[in-house]
Amino acid sequence: MLHEEIRTCRRCFDDGFPITPAPMVWGLAPAPVMIIGQAPGLSDLRGARMYLGPAARKLFGWLEDAGFAPEDIGKIVYMTALTKCFPGRLPGKSTDRAPSPREMRNCRPWLDAQMALVQPKLIILFGKMAIDKFLPKMLLTEAIGQAFPAPGVTYVPLPHSSGASTWLNDPAHRALLAEAIERVREERLRVLGIAASGDPLEERYP
Ligand code: SF4
Repeated sequence: MLHEEIRTCRRCFDDGFPITPAPMVWGLAPAPVMIIGQAPGLSDLRGARMYLGPAARKLFGWLEDAGFAPEDIGKIVYMTALTKCFPGRLPGKSTDRAPSPREMRNCRPWLDAQMALVQPKLIILFGKMAIDKFLPKMLLTEAIGQAFPAPGVTYVPLPHSSGASTWLNDPAHRALLAEAIERVREERLRVLGIAASGDPLEERYP
């Protein structure tokens, strides 16, 4: 029912933003884990589903490193974003336009409704824009690698995996990513009630 309501939304289009008004939703509710990214990309628009592009494939690799199986995605891992419509490309460029504060405000009631419906115990904040919304005024270097417990839920930030981001070019930042994946692995075990095992990731993220 909520997903059907979201799919009919045209708020940002009616406000004059150059979005493609085709809201995307993906996941089952309730679910123990939720991923909140920035916005759907062009691949998502073409495939009519979120998280279809190269950045998503890299994210899914990180999730597999943290213990999730591919079939968990969209089932025990509910996938969403700050805004649900493709924002369009930057004028004259091949990179996506980031949603504006107004678009994020427009879409926040949908995100809040999704969170209330899904009731996740672990929320993975994927990328700086999502991190800023839930952990404001925090540098990426302070956020990545940490887990942030809150009442009823723990937030674990991940950097964005987009090729447009240069943050992961720095070896020190890749070390923080390895720490962040460990935090996801620990929280996955906790929320799914599974006993922890070894297999550190540092060697794969030198
Ligand atoms: S981005 Fe969100 S608020 Fe804006 S039109 Fe799409 S679903 Fe509606």
